[in-house]
Amino acid sequence: MKNFSNYNDYSLKKDLAFESRAIHGALGNDPMTGAVSFPIFQTATFRHKALGQSTGYDYSRLQNPTRQELERTMAILEEGTEAFAFSSGQAANMALFTWLNPGDHLILSDDIYGGTFRIVDTIFHKYGVDYTYVDMSELDQVKAAITDKTKMFFIETPTNPMMKVADIRVLSDLAKSIGAITVVDNTFLTPYFQRPLTLGADVVVHSATKYIGGHNDTISGIAVTNNEEIAAHMKIQLKSHGNGLAALDSWLLIRGLKTLPIRMDRHNENAKVVAEWLRTQPKVKKVYYVGFPDHKDYEVTLKQTSGFGGMISFEMDSFETVERILERVDMIMFAESLGGTETLITYPTRQTHEDVPMDRKEALGINDKFLRISIGLENVNDIIRDLDQAMNGK
Ligand SMILES: *Cc1c(COP(=O)(O)O)cnc(C)c1O
Repeated sequence: MKNFSNYNDYSLKKDLAFESRAIHGALGNDPMTGAVSFPIFQTATFRHKALGQSTGYDYSRLQNPTRQELERTMAILEEGTEAFAFSSGQAANMALFTWLNPGDHLILSDDIYGGTFRIVDTIFHKYGVDYTYVDMSELDQVKAAITDKTKMFFIETPTNPMMKVADIRVLSDLAKSIGAITVVDNTFLTPYFQRPLTLGADVVVHSATKYIGGHNDTISGIAVTNNEEIAAHMKIQLKSHGNGLAALDSWLLIRGLKTLPIRMDRHNENAKVVAEWLRTQPKVKKVYYVGFPDHKDYEVTLKQTSGFGGMISFEMDSFETVERILERVDMIMFAESLGGTETLITYPTRQTHEDVPMDRKEALGINDKFLRISIGLENVNDIIRDLDQAMNGK
């Protein structure tokens, strides 16, 4: 692990456990100066020694050492070979969908992040990419949607916001058998709890804005793959779109990753307590949480993940109670997004899923009584007390 000269001399640290890898990254410290905190290379361009002699870095749109340290670290944590850090989760998804050609067909999870729906529906559909939404937790529905043009499965698991769980291993095998690739949006669980590439997926994508960064302070996205052809494709996309993550933002994610395991453990613990409490509340009609043993996909969850994460959705008795909660929460903030230190409560039908057609939302259960909460790292008693007063107070 001691490296005092070379930016390309890094190891996969296979002898270290996940927690240690998250902290020590790829290079970890700066090989030139020994700086323990990896430097922020705030530079647009790099000086050359002579014609044909590059340090390996030419121009920051293409490669930047700070972004590279983040990308290599994410590749290590997801057990892929290459990673690409983008200016947002949406930018990473945009780059991924360009894998498809006009005439190709794509199968997506039916309740998926609203922005991902928008990319496919308003952009790629226009360029001739065909798509079908199915409940990916139901294998028969996926099989029925396959055509001879199907080239990609895009799986979100657990789904946002209905918390349905798809079997990554089974779906990846199915995709392989028809010559399609499998992409898994791993935003909700992170590689600490779930590593889709080890289950047969070809690409993992993250809104790193969420748990990877973890502090509600940076918009970012990451794609990781173990497929050379896809990696080459992603590299060209990033270089051409010019949407690679900036050095400072990359550094914030490197810092976020160091505490990912302990943050995820606490999100997981807190969410379990809150989910159980919500179930006892008379005004709460239904709680959607993957950690309940009576969740319909619980067996699949136990098979492929080592934790349940910090996300809970729930349906209230009336729209009036929803309005009241959103107005009265105090420590908990009514805001979009998830995965940060702060507990945030979201109203999907008007926020994250605004652009999903009403009939589709109704069919999924994303109605006007539906709320989603991202459980933060505050003391869990404070989270519950705040929800209680907002829901039940005079
Ligand atoms: C937030 C989110 C995205 C979009 O990522 P941005 O960083 O906001 O562009 C995609 N998928 C999921 C599951 C998300 O939660």
